[in-house]
Amino acid sequence: MQQVKHRNLEATTYIDRIIGQYTQGIAGPHLLVFAGIHGNEPSGVFALENIFRKLTKDAIPISGKLTGITGNLKALGSGVRYYDEDMNRLFLPERIEKVRQTKSTLNTEENELKIITELVDKLTAGDTDVFFVDCHSTSAESEPFISMNTGYTDSYAFVRGLPVNAVIGIEREIKGCLSEYYNQRGFHGFTFEAGQHEAVDTVHNQEAMIWLSLIKAGCLDPQITAHISHAEEVLASNIIEGFKFFSVISSYAIKEEEHFRMEPGFVNLQPIEKGQLLAYSNGNPVYAPDSGRILMPLYQKQGNHGYFFAREIHEHHLIQNKVVLK
Ligand SMILES: [Zn+2]
Repeated sequence: MQQVKHRNLEATTYIDRIIGQYTQGIAGPHLLVFAGIHGNEPSGVFALENIFRKLTKDAIPISGKLTGITGNLKALGSGVRYYDEDMNRLFLPERIEKVRQTKSTLNTEENELKIITELVDKLTAGDTDVFFVDCHSTSAESEPFISMNTGYTDSYAFVRGLPVNAVIGIEREIKGCLSEYYNQRGFHGFTFEAGQHEAVDTVHNQEAMIWLSLIKAGCLDPQITAHISHAEEVLASNIIEGFKFFSVISSYAIKEEEHFRMEPGFVNLQPIEKGQLLAYSNGNPVYAPDSGRILMPLYQKQGNHGYFFAREIHEHHLIQNKVVLK
């Protein structure tokens, strides 16, 4: 058992690798929800506990099943993003093969990677319809947004209609994310950046997204549970400009030994003008290369990207560019 704390929620819980599983033995889709792939992002753990408690208390009818899986169990216990390596950069087929085959000692995150990928294989053996949500949060203040990979038609259908903004194409800047690995494996899903790491609202957003994902995946009948309309209200209340799609066009990669300091006050999806001061690198100013939106400005010690840059795109580009890799 691992102790996990949420400071602003003033809550402590004790979790294992499987946070919970809910099924009534009726055939149907399998929704996997991952929480805490980054150990300083505990919101998904608490959201999942709320969901399992409510599902069980009201004996809500479900087709298929919901499984909650802990990400970086060890880092979650200490509230750090990671120990040796960022776990959301390790989900690469060759790396997974290596950690499964090696007889030598694995580092902390390699060990977690081995356990999780083997567990998911076991949990989904024989399943034909697997969906997933990977719960994350950001160091900056943020309205919640979905991050999804380009070209996965069924994942796009899963996301469509959810009352939050969606960003596509982050996989062009970051390799080894859990979401891309499981998209390539034929699972339908996305990463959900639910708000600031420590904010209480982030837990509520995370919970709302899991309820709506249960509907979209086809596990729950929306008529049956009153939690659904509340979930839609919670997520929709965050949207400032209306529901939009954005495409990632570049990122600022921080080099080894580089001292990077973001200017204070940026929030996710904030409009940025070309030439605007964004940060300092080794004391020198870093200006915006273009106009657009800033994404995930770095306000924590651990992290390899200072920020990402995105632009709004029209939804029809998503449909035209679809490529299904299974
Ligand atoms: Zn994260």
